[in-house]
Amino acid sequence: MSVKIPIETSARHVHISKQDFHFLFGEDAELHYVKELSQPGQYLCEERITVVGPRGTFENMAILGPFRKDTQVELSLTDTRKLGIPGMIRQSGDIEGTPGCILRGPMGALTISRGVIVAKRHIHMTPDEALTLRIRDNDEVFVLTKSYGRALIYADVVVRVSRSFRLSMHVDTDEANAFSSDAEPYGVIVKLFDDTYNTDKWIEEVLEGINR
Ligand SMILES: [Zn+2]
Repeated sequence: MSVKIPIETSARHVHISKQDFHFLFGEDAELHYVKELSQPGQYLCEERITVVGPRGTFENMAILGPFRKDTQVELSLTDTRKLGIPGMIRQSGDIEGTPGCILRGPMGALTISRGVIVAKRHIHMTPDEALTLRIRDNDEVFVLTKSYGRALIYADVVVRVSRSFRLSMHVDTDEANAFSSDAEPYGVIVKLFDDTYNTDKWIEEVLEGINR
C-alpha cells in the first residue's frame, strides 16, 4: 500500500519571533496576511526582511506567519554559500548550535546568534496516512521522485506526523532542481530494507562487498 506524495519546494524564508519582529518593524507593527501555504495555519506575509551574512545579502526575503518562539532563517546550501554562512541541516525548530546572521528591517538591524538552518527534507502527514503507510513520527524513509529523465531516490527523508498536517513532501530549491520537477511533482515512499537502515552503514557494507 502506497500513496502519491505531492512534492513542494520551499524557497528561502524566515520564521520570526514576536519580539524580533517588533524590534525590526516597530512596536505597533503587525504581520499582514498575503496567502495561505500548504500546511494549515501557515501563511505568507506582506512584510519582507533583509538577511546579511559575511559574504552576501538577500533582500526582500519572505516572512512566514504566524510568529514562532524562535526566529529561524531557512536557506538552501547554495544560499548559505552566497551569504558565507555554514550550512547546517536541521529539522525546523532544532536551532541549538546553529549559526546566526544579521537581520535588517525598516526600524533597524539585529544580530541573531543562532537560527540559520538548511531544512532537512521532510514529509508532513496525518496519523491516518502514517498508519496506512506503517510509519511513525520521526521515521526516515526513501522517496522515489516521479521525473522526466532525471528521477532521484531521496534518502534520509524525515516524516512528521500531526493531525494538523496536509500530506506533502518539502524540499528546498537545490533539491527541487536536482530532479527534473514537473508542474506537479510527486514521489512515493520506497522500502529498500526490512529493518531500520542507516545510509552511512549501507555505504560501508557496499564497500565491503556485502549485498543486502
Ligand atoms: Zn514542511
